[in-house]
Amino acid sequence: MKQLTLSTVLTNRVPNGAQSERKPAAHTYLDNRVTKSQRENKRTRSQRARERLQTKEHLAQLAVGLGEVELAHKIERCHSRLSVLTCGRHIARVIPNFTCEFRLCPDCGRRRSRRLQNKYLPMMSGFMLHNKVTPVHLVLTQTHRKENRKQSAKRIRDAFTKLQRREFWKNHFKGGTWSLEFTKGKDRLHHTHLHIIGFRRRFFDIELLRSEWLAVTGDSHVIHLRKVKDIATSLQEVVKYVSKPLDIRRFDADDLREFLGLKNMRMFGTFGEFRDFCKGFKPSDNDGEFDSLARDLVEGCACPQCNEPLFDLRMSAKELPQFYEQAESSPPGEVRKSSH
Ligand SMILES: [Zn+2]
Ligand SMILES: [Zn+2]
Repeated sequence: MKQLTLSTVLTNRVPNGAQSERKPAAHTYLDNRVTKSQRENKRTRSQRARERLQTKEHLAQLAVGLGEVELAHKIERCHSRLSVLTCGRHIARVIPNFTCEFRLCPDCGRRRSRRLQNKYLPMMSGFMLHNKVTPVHLVLTQTHRKENRKQSAKRIRDAFTKLQRREFWKNHFKGGTWSLEFTKGKDRLHHTHLHIIGFRRRFFDIELLRSEWLAVTGDSHVIHLRKVKDIATSLQEVVKYVSKPLDIRRFDADDLREFLGLKNMRMFGTFGEFRDFCKGFKPSDNDGEFDSLARDLVEGCACPQCNEPLFDLRMSAKELPQFYEQAESSPPGEVRKSSH
């Protein structure tokens, strides 16, 4: 392996204020809750990497407080040493030394949501090709009650099961995906939402759906609906809740204890005819192409973004935000020339 350190790479660079970060596509968001994820997209990669570090430190401390020393140790070890395949300006691949697979770990959550996207995007595209449907993003909410996370999740999922059995739903939806989003209000009550990417058969008045939801929940009428412009973006948005099931910055020891008590709660799933379609789906050779391309990249390959040769850089997790920062501030086109 070449003897390259982070500092040699960084000193070879001329920082200036130009932003090389690509802007995320503009979305129309539904309400304040979803606007939060829009703000998240606007944060730079270095900021997000720093936040992941802080989240993990916080989680590890909480785990130690609960006597879960082994869990704390796993979280600390996860992604602590990285092998970064880079041209100096772009990061083609990050290979971690170890992954903890803990469901609240932000690094492992990112990997998990990428895996879900790679798996379901070809199926969704395929389903839309074979069926005359319009994808919509539907958010179902419920009233807040004094209940634990498990009860709250069960209540909203049971209501959704009832909704799917009704004529109105069957006439208008051909299936889709669901994912759960949890937040906690200032009142400390769980706010649980179901995000649905539904394949709509035909147009309907939202007030009709609202009354259907009220009928199955008994007391909830707050729903949001919008047309999906880009299925990849919408899928990315809903799997984010799978990777980040909770606002961990506001997490305390009781929250972690509760979470550890419900290990295998499902956060994402498919329903209706889309579910059956997925079971019989055979991916074509092109599906997941980008993913396997990234996996095949090794030292010496051309950077997929600028064609400069890639080299392997070893760094600790704490150095990654700084590396991103340098990449973000380099002028477009400026590339570190490898000097070997
Ligand atoms: Zn992890
Ligand atoms: Zn590059």
